[in-house]
Parts: sequence; C-alpha cells; structure tokens
Amino acid sequence: MLFERQNFFVAGLSRSGVSAAEYLVSRGARVYVYDDVQDEHVLSASDKLFDMGCVVVQKEELYERAAECDILVLSPGIPVDHPLPVAFRKAGKSIIGETELGALALRCPVIAVTGTNGKTTTVTMIESIFRTAGKSAVACANVGKPITSCLNELGEKSVAVAEISSFQLETLYSLRPHVAVVLNVTEDHLNRHYNMENYVYLKSRILKNSAESEYAVLNYDDPIVRGFAEKTKAKIVWFSLQEKVEGAYIEDGSFCYRGERLFSERELPIDGEHNRANALAAICAAKIMGLGNASIIAALKSFRGVKHRLQKVGELGGVTFIDDSKATNVDSAIKAVQSVKGESVLLLGGKDKGYSYEPMFDAVKKSGVVHTVIYGENAFRILNAALKQGYTAVTVCRPFDMAVRIAYLTAKRGQNVLLSPASASFDAFKSYEERGERFAEMLSILAKETSKNHYGVIAGGEGETYETE
Ligand code: ADP
Repeated sequence: MLFERQNFFVAGLSRSGVSAAEYLVSRGARVYVYDDVQDEHVLSASDKLFDMGCVVVQKEELYERAAECDILVLSPGIPVDHPLPVAFRKAGKSIIGETELGALALRCPVIAVTGTNGKTTTVTMIESIFRTAGKSAVACANVGKPITSCLNELGEKSVAVAEISSFQLETLYSLRPHVAVVLNVTEDHLNRHYNMENYVYLKSRILKNSAESEYAVLNYDDPIVRGFAEKTKAKIVWFSLQEKVEGAYIEDGSFCYRGERLFSERELPIDGEHNRANALAAICAAKIMGLGNASIIAALKSFRGVKHRLQKVGELGGVTFIDDSKATNVDSAIKAVQSVKGESVLLLGGKDKGYSYEPMFDAVKKSGVVHTVIYGENAFRILNAALKQGYTAVTVCRPFDMAVRIAYLTAKRGQNVLLSPASASFDAFKSYEERGERFAEMLSILAKETSKNHYGVIAGGEGETYETE
C-alpha cells in the first residue's frame, strides 16, 4: 500500500485507532482523525495527533472531510453499517481496520487465534510457551496491543501471536497466518452481526487466505468449528477433550500430542474443562512451531490465568469472591458455573447482546449455584429466561453494588460469590475490567463494614483485552 500522498480517515480513537494514525503519519500519509465521543481520552489523543500533523475532524464537517479521503481506517468498535463506512463504500473506497494495516506490515510468522471465548487465555499461553523456550513472541492485536504499535518488537525472528475478534475480521483481508487457531463458535454479538450465519461466516474468514503450507488448529468438539475443515486448504491439526484426534487430546488424564504424553491434566493450575481445551489448542500451535515438550510443559504448569477470568480476588467471612467479569456471553458464564468448585451465589446481568439466556439456567440448575442475583439493564430479560426454565432461586435488583452486597449476604461460609455476568458491562461501566475492579472494591468495602476479619486478597493474573465484549 502506498502511504504517501494518500488521505486516510481514521474513525474511532481507541487504542487501535490512535496507533493506526501514528503509524500512518510515520509512513508519510495525510491522516484525518475523528471520534464522536469527546471524553478525556479522546480529547488528549486528538491533541497529540494534531501535534503530529493529523487533521482533527469535527462532527459538523464529518462527511465533507470524509469525502476528501481515499481510505477509511475503521475502529473495531464501529459497525460496518454505520453511515460513515456506508458513505465510503458507496463512493467505491476501501475500508480497512488497524489490524489490516498491521497484517500488511508484518514480516514475521503469525499465529492467529479466534473463537467466541478463550482467545486471550490461549494467546497468553502460547506467548508464555515461546518465552519459556527463550524465543521472541508478542501477544498482540485484540489483547490491547495493536499490531501497528509493536512492529519494532516483531522482527523477522519473532512471532506475532495475534488475538483476532469478529469485529476485527470485518475489516481484515490480508492476514495469512502460518497457524490459525479457531477455539469455538457460540452465540455472541448478535446485536452487531444480526444472526449466527453472519457471525460464523466472519469467524471462518480467519482461514480464507491459508494455503496448503499453512495450518488450521480446529476444535473437533465444536460442530461449527469442525465444519471449517472443509472450507480451508490449510493442513488440519485437531484438538479435542473427547476423542483421540490427529493433534492434541486428553488420554488417561494426561495432555497428549500425536501419541506423546506431555503432562497430567491435574497439573494445569487453572480450573475448568474449557481451560483444558485452551491448553490443547496452545499445545497444537507450539508443536507446529517446533517448540520442545519441556518448554510447553513448564509454561503450562506455571500458567496462572488472566485477570478477570475466573480469578479468585479474595475471601471475606469464609466466602470466596471470584471475578469472571470477562464472561460477557452465555457460553463463557456456563463454563464458569460448570468449573467453579463447591456452592456459589451467582451474579448475572449487564448490557444485553441479543441472545437467549435460557441455556444459562439449564446449566445453573445442574451446577453448584445455590442462588442467582440478577442485576443491570437486562435484568428482566434474564429473569424471564429463569422463570421460563422453572428456576426461581433469584433476587433481582438493578444497581451492581447492591447486587454484590446481596450476593455476599446470601452466601454462607464456605460458598463463593461468583461474578460471571453473561452480559457486556457497558450499561454501567466503561469495560469489563472496570466492572471486575468494582467487584474487588466492593469486597474491600464489605470487609471494612463487617466485623468478620477473615479478609485476604489473592494476587491477580496478567493481561487485558479490550474493545470487544
Ligand atoms: P476471549 O479473549 O475470547 O474473550 P478469554 O480468554 O478472555 O476469552 O475468556 C473470556 C471468558 O470466557 C472468561 O470468562 C473465561 O473464563 C471464559 N472462557 C475461556 N476459555 C473458554 C473456552 N474455551 N470456552 C468457553 N469459555 C471460555
């Protein structure tokens, strides 16, 4: 792509938008930047980009300025059917994402990871295996580190371990991963992609450029992902919790890869069948990239998990607080209630994303959840689903803080308070991280208020995703 003498319009000044604008300016392009939110972050980013020579576009002149540009760089947060991209499309102009700019610039091998749930966990596992092996690898893209912001770390000898969301796949064309991992496809983001068909199609696009020399690591246990094998030229490496497949699987309680035993599944420090599946996917990627068993075993045996994913944040009066704020859809929250040991009071609710909550209560009824506190904007949709499933052990209240308080008061000594909301956070918070932080703060507040003095904070994991919930 020729950057000089081209006008780029960067819409959306989140981390990736800012990074795209900086990258384009550094390559000699003329860059227009715009965001319709005018908060502190956007204003300071706009000032910085203005100083670098960007044109900061105002709302009143949006379409006039947009018409002066050749290419739209669209933030993953803005839907492709927003009037701005529609105007570019009507004018026959290109629409790309920051990830596309990154993909065009990368000179190193790429391991790309997509799926509805488990991307950040798996990407972090893969990066950690590389680092344990003394090799350079960078977890990037949707993990909060735009590819264009870390190109200098990604030399030819490094490996980009890129988390790719469905939002990014809407505007990504050139990525040709050496290894493409698809973890699972379950209902999510239907408010953005309208129906499952579109969502599945977008996920399958991760494989569209793969040739015979490349690899697709696919989840054999997920019928949608299994179907992707027919649509790609890449060599298939399967992973499965249930079958002895050509790839990674569990046999006699051990992680195995093509007939080799690696280590006992009990030695993976994070709970949940879903995390065993993530580990199997990471093993496949590492083996394809030629990494040794010793590094794979050492990295996975010491993997502490990622913050806001089934993270124990503390204990008060014999009640353990578990933060799974990143469970922003039903499938991830189902996995939480299935994996948390013992009895729990569950916190469910937030911003609706257009899917059914009924499967949630099927799982809740079979789990150790003794009571559910439903809160947030979608509280009555969730309550409706609970009642339809004949589940009545519920309390409903709108505000988050009160919901945490009720959950704590309901939980008995030895039980957990589990925040695994099955919903986005945007009804009351900026992000799922902020929601998770508030959950931990509520624990401190309750600790101060109560005479129970069994309070202790457990250190968290690492990493942060952003933008897509
Ligand atoms: P993503 O980056 O795809 O959002 P994360 O690793 O951040 O995935 O995990 C998001 C949520 O999904 C967390 O609540 C986590 O416990 C749950 N989760 C992780 N891996 C899986 C999986 N393989 N299947 C279902 N849920 C999962």
